[in-house]
Amino acid sequence: MTKQPGWKLKSSYTALPERFYSIIKVNPVSSPELLVLNAPLAEELGLDDEALQSEEAVAVFAGNEVPKGSVPFAQAYAGHQFGHFTMLGDGRALMVGEQETPEGKLYDIQLKGSGRTPYSRGGDGRAALGPMLREYIISEAMHALGIPTTRSLAVVATGEPVYRETALPGAIMTRVASSHIRVGTFEYAAGGGSAEELKALADYTLKRHFPHVDTDGDQYLSLLREVVKVQASLIAKWQLVGFIHGVMNTDNMTISGETIDYGPCAFMDAYDPATVFSSIDAQGRYAYSNQPGIGGWNLARFAEALLPLLHEDQEEAVKLAQDAVSEYPEVFHQNWLSGMRAKLGLFNEEAGDKALIEDLLSMMHEQKADFTNTFRALAEGELEEIQIKNDEGFQVWHQQWKERLGRQEETEEASARLMKSSNPAVIPRNHIVEEALQAAVEEGDLTVLGRLLDVLQNPYEDNMEKDYCRQPAPAGMPYQTYCGT
Ligand code: AMP
Ligand code: MG
Ligand code: MG
Repeated sequence: MTKQPGWKLKSSYTALPERFYSIIKVNPVSSPELLVLNAPLAEELGLDDEALQSEEAVAVFAGNEVPKGSVPFAQAYAGHQFGHFTMLGDGRALMVGEQETPEGKLYDIQLKGSGRTPYSRGGDGRAALGPMLREYIISEAMHALGIPTTRSLAVVATGEPVYRETALPGAIMTRVASSHIRVGTFEYAAGGGSAEELKALADYTLKRHFPHVDTDGDQYLSLLREVVKVQASLIAKWQLVGFIHGVMNTDNMTISGETIDYGPCAFMDAYDPATVFSSIDAQGRYAYSNQPGIGGWNLARFAEALLPLLHEDQEEAVKLAQDAVSEYPEVFHQNWLSGMRAKLGLFNEEAGDKALIEDLLSMMHEQKADFTNTFRALAEGELEEIQIKNDEGFQVWHQQWKERLGRQEETEEASARLMKSSNPAVIPRNHIVEEALQAAVEEGDLTVLGRLLDVLQNPYEDNMEKDYCRQPAPAGMPYQTYCGT
């Protein structure tokens, strides 16, 4: 008997009130071809990576067939996009179901680019190969960096073109998430739904993501507090590696605390807090330095959606919500500060640490120093090539830092280890990702992409091939990213 892929699909989401989803049919494509498969992730999910490469299994990744037990659906949600409330939903995604892992955890299996749904509005429901491979690369790099994220299990080419400004090869990506429940899902529940429906979603979310929360009456306030915590932690992690999400609309913010929706995201090269990559973000709403504040803004939208559940008296509910959300800036700051201490090799805490960090960042900004390479050079003690050496304040700063390191019990070696494990040598740099995508999309050569994926698996390792660490050439237009292709 041939080996089976091992799908063990549940459909807990469709037990929610009908308003939260639409059962949909598959939209088959003509000639699916498996381009990338994530074997380690398959194993974690209890799937057999060899069996997943058979024609029948690839038909599942292409959305041509669904595995036994799957009732495909699209999720309804809403969201604030660049500050404006809109009704949305999976316009180009199909939920296959929730895979139960050998450990008994549920992971959403979703096809992105799988064709039109009732929420597609004017869109074609499809995706182009370049952006799907890009999401695969960056989400897997984020995972290897230790940042909570949706994952990528597979990319298939559809054999069909998608029409954007030009005709592009189409593709479907299989996204894996601990769920796709978003702040926008709660906004959808609160906007026009009944209190029972909102409560059903909140109860489902608590059970799925925060099972340790006691259901003693205060659980909805606890849900808000938990999401404040996981998002403060997540966004701090983004800041610490120079990741810019690019489109932090409330529909792109998960309740689980995983990074989701790799559209116009990118990593910063030269340190500049005002960095924006997205072509549609002319105002810089989602610039690097605005991300923490936008996190708070989005959490306030989440809190508003929860108001009917927080207290019978809505004035009391508002007070509770405000108190919970007002904790976010401090929780974020503590996460950021402890992460920055680790980046500088500091184990203990001193009042002057924040100033020490800010002085370094301001020299980096002034000197247009590469964010990743500067921290890694400090970690490796290789100061020869770093740009901030040219700053007249650097010697003084360096002396202060060395003295500060001397005021802790841990050895220099322990500090160096902490720094290396907190400062990646390699990130998915835009120009390097572009090279891999170009080879894959334009020349059908997946070897460049394969090598890049391998390197990104171990971002904190020593002896990184220097080619992957190089900054982009200074010439040319600033790098721009695009949504929705
Ligand atoms: P995003 O900006 O990626 O968060 O997407 C915003 C909304 O647009 C979501 O509801 C998507 O499902 C939808 N969308 C994006 N691209 C397409 C497409 N090609 N066809 C249909 N809907 C789309
Ligand atoms: Mg989205
Ligand atoms: Mg998107």
